[in-house]
Amino acid sequence: MENSKKVIYEIKHLRKSFGKVEVLKDISMKIENGEVCTIIGPSGSGKSTFLRCLNLLEKPTGGELWFEGKRVNEKTDVKMLRRDVGMVFQSFNLFPMFTAVENVMYAPIHIKKIPRSQAREEAMELLDRVGLAERADYYPGELSGGQQQRVAIARALAMKPKMLLFDEPTSALDPELVGDVLTVMKEVALAGMTMAVVTHEMQFARSVSNHVVFMDKGYIVEEGNPEDIFTHPKEERTQTFLKRLL
Ligand code: ADP
Ligand code: MG
Repeated sequence: MENSKKVIYEIKHLRKSFGKVEVLKDISMKIENGEVCTIIGPSGSGKSTFLRCLNLLEKPTGGELWFEGKRVNEKTDVKMLRRDVGMVFQSFNLFPMFTAVENVMYAPIHIKKIPRSQAREEAMELLDRVGLAERADYYPGELSGGQQQRVAIARALAMKPKMLLFDEPTSALDPELVGDVLTVMKEVALAGMTMAVVTHEMQFARSVSNHVVFMDKGYIVEEGNPEDIFTHPKEERTQTFLKRLL
């Protein structure tokens, strides 16, 4: 029981500026092992920047990051960190000249040095898990956006990460393709993956996540469980944001 509550990522007074513009202002929070944390808030509030700091796609300008009890800073082996903390982007970012299965196999072969045959076998299992086994030999350009995003999730899982970051994974999709991607994400969550998800899908935030963080203008305005945030928001800014979505 104690172990399931272990903090996997701790963020202390994180700050990030681009030039003179401070985009993240004193962000502190903890992400527990196995939790699904959704990050919501208006456009431009710093959600993507925050997520990108967690795997050092952006370099923090202040504060401390602690992943599994170890400091994440300029001395961190970025390759190792990104093996443990995977990321799924809004725009999928698949390699266009590789088939679906080759996309999923690539990092295990080249970064983890796993034998090709084993990497292919594991990649096929993952494509099956995201419902795309029969599309294994298709190129990204031959797949719908939703299918490409499911390949991207399989690709992230192929590295056997300890945690996955999702930055608006369904925002670029036609509405009818969103559901399949959210279903896959829900299954990944139920399998126990620790996830931090920036999303506008409030139904997902409400029903799948157990930790909701509302950000505005570079601050965490309010955080709590879905019931706290969606049913009993305390802060006026949270209330206004949620009302606008109705
Ligand atoms: P969100 O994901 O909540 O929409 P972002 O983290 O993308 O917000 O952006 C927050 C603010 O930081 C925005 O004003 C944006 O213009 C600015 N910003 C983001 N990335 C950069 C960058 N690389 N250089 C300069 N400004 C940036
Ligand atoms: Mg963003």
